[in-house]
Amino acid sequence: MTAREITGHHAVTTAHGTTAQHRPVGSHTPTSGGLAKAALPYADAAGSQVVQVYVSNSRGWALPAGDPAQDTRFRDGCGERGLPVFIHASLLVNLGSPTANTVERSAETLAHALRRGRAIGAEGVVFHAGSAVDAGHAEAALRQVRETLLPLLDEAAASDGPRLLVEPSAGGGRSLASRVEQLGPYLDAVDRHPWLGVCFDTCHAWAAGHDLAAEGGMTATLDTLVATVGAGRLRLVHANDSKDLCGSTRDRHENIGKGTIGEPAFAELMAHPATAGIPVVVETPTEKHVGHAADIATLKRLHP
Ligand SMILES: [Zn+2]
Repeated sequence: MTAREITGHHAVTTAHGTTAQHRPVGSHTPTSGGLAKAALPYADAAGSQVVQVYVSNSRGWALPAGDPAQDTRFRDGCGERGLPVFIHASLLVNLGSPTANTVERSAETLAHALRRGRAIGAEGVVFHAGSAVDAGHAEAALRQVRETLLPLLDEAAASDGPRLLVEPSAGGGRSLASRVEQLGPYLDAVDRHPWLGVCFDTCHAWAAGHDLAAEGGMTATLDTLVATVGAGRLRLVHANDSKDLCGSTRDRHENIGKGTIGEPAFAELMAHPATAGIPVVVETPTEKHVGHAADIATLKRLHP
């Protein structure tokens, strides 16, 4: 028996028979040309243990129906490989927008992603926390979050569908949540609904001013995250290094260990109890799958 044998969803049994919480590592995965046709070979080539995909254009509002044959092949292929699946919603989604039409389209986009998520067996749909854009719109923005999310969360929970996962942003533009402490009011806005999870992005947290590069900085930030959102709320990690300085509010991802955050912070990430059993996805620069394969290999090496 090998030292690490996958026995359950994200758990492993060691040679000594003890169960440890495995952190599956994978990447954002391209789907153009067909969900199964494109994503499965990519995941294999990159060494992925988890897959994240878009189900609509990342910078558009069109909501494609999906191809049932590709959906089935993709769901079965991920099942055979033991890959958990996550959807990243369009980057245009902003539930805090002062423009009513944007809020409406954002709600439709999330509903579509949840439907597509059920079809392809996804565990979660990630969306950015959003921003109020205008001074004075912050309070109304959190009300919009409540009004939009509660019905979606209730329906997803009732149908045992994918969870919605809010991802704090890089900051700036009157973000509703960029620092992890701001997730408190965000969760409160939906009465801490059990179907709203959190996706923690290292590059965003760094851009928002969390000093992850300091020794113990990643650990302290994750401690604060757990203290704010409670146990079991963190469902996904986006592991990205950064091209910019701490507090820059700029969101330019870099390969793991090649940027301003640096490899030691990612070792803290992979060892923190809050990430035990939680999938880790890279969204880093890549030529075909090569950059992702290297980053996945680095994170696997840093896994305790
Ligand atoms: Zn991200």
